[in-house]
Amino acid sequence: MMRFTLPRDLYYGKGALEHLKELKGKKAILVLGGGSMKKFGFVDKAVSYLKEAGIETELFENVEPDPSVETVMKGAEAMRKFEPDWIISMGGGSPIDAAKAMWVFYEYPDTTFEDIIKPFSFPELRQKAKFLAIPSTSGTATEVTAFSVITDYSTGVKYPLADFNITPDVAIVDPDLAETMPPKLVAHTGMDALTHAIEAYVSTLNSPFTDPLALKAISMVFENLPASFHGCMQAREQMHYAQCLAGQAFTNALLGIVHSMAHKTGAAFSTGHIPHGCANAIYLPYVIQYNAKDQTAKERYAAIARSVGISGSDSECVVKLCKKIDEYNVALNIPKTLQEFGIKEDEFKEKLSKIAELAVSDACTGSNPRAITPAEMEKLLSCTYYGTPVEF
Ligand code: FE
Repeated sequence: MMRFTLPRDLYYGKGALEHLKELKGKKAILVLGGGSMKKFGFVDKAVSYLKEAGIETELFENVEPDPSVETVMKGAEAMRKFEPDWIISMGGGSPIDAAKAMWVFYEYPDTTFEDIIKPFSFPELRQKAKFLAIPSTSGTATEVTAFSVITDYSTGVKYPLADFNITPDVAIVDPDLAETMPPKLVAHTGMDALTHAIEAYVSTLNSPFTDPLALKAISMVFENLPASFHGCMQAREQMHYAQCLAGQAFTNALLGIVHSMAHKTGAAFSTGHIPHGCANAIYLPYVIQYNAKDQTAKERYAAIARSVGISGSDSECVVKLCKKIDEYNVALNIPKTLQEFGIKEDEFKEKLSKIAELAVSDACTGSNPRAITPAEMEKLLSCTYYGTPVEF
């Protein structure tokens, strides 16, 4: 038996934030990031809409990028004091991910972080509150997914939490919020969304329920990402919907080794963080070459290629799909290799075997269409460093 889970309601379109006026409840805690939503006036708007709905609102602000276990526990504490019946989070992936984890410890104060690390092991939520998510970036799709990434800074480990209990009840996908993104963030989050859709489509858990969502997301990203990057707000709106469709696909079909590699290299090097979407964009064409040695995966990549107007044999389609992704990366100022990104060769070589091992054991590896050993992962990562073709 398989399961397919999404939020019960999704409000979308320009000005959809106004749905907050119609929310039924008494108290809402609004979980926010660093301040851009406040600066652009969306927090004031949200609070006044909630007031119109007769809902008392308290803010929990300044959730940091890559939110920590401590922030999650602090937020849960604030929730236990205020006792909201709605948890609302507005912003990028970080505040929404943090709020999802806070929700667990609000409802189950005796639960420990260790208790929920195991995927699909959460206690039954919605005993005290429901969850509403309002994304301001167009990539993670956390507003519709069963995932949350929380970092334990004491060990330096990022924990991907996964359980359908934390799939939000309501998502508001209002493109007005995405208009505030700077171009670099548009590029990175957009390629993250493309990666979600492609990995979901070729995942071993792909299904007739997730395939149409993934294919539609892929064609919408190819159609709209460059224009959105250059500031076209109609294209930006389409990207906001495309990333949400990609999220609906991957929350149910899961992902693959592009994400395993991005998770384990993101914070690995002293030269600085590799933004998640940028890492995905770099790795995606190499992983397609690796996975396409598997016959079923090759046929699926070819189907993706044909759905965006590419023609030829399956093998030709795979090559042309990789070429198309390369061209988009160039247009979006995304480097072709880790070397070009600025990772030092000595450090890369020194850390390679450990990173390869960690990437293979990442939660996303299990649904990748072709198995991979740590030795093969080392070779694959080396290809992404030097830009060499994947021939194994
Ligand atoms: Fe991602």
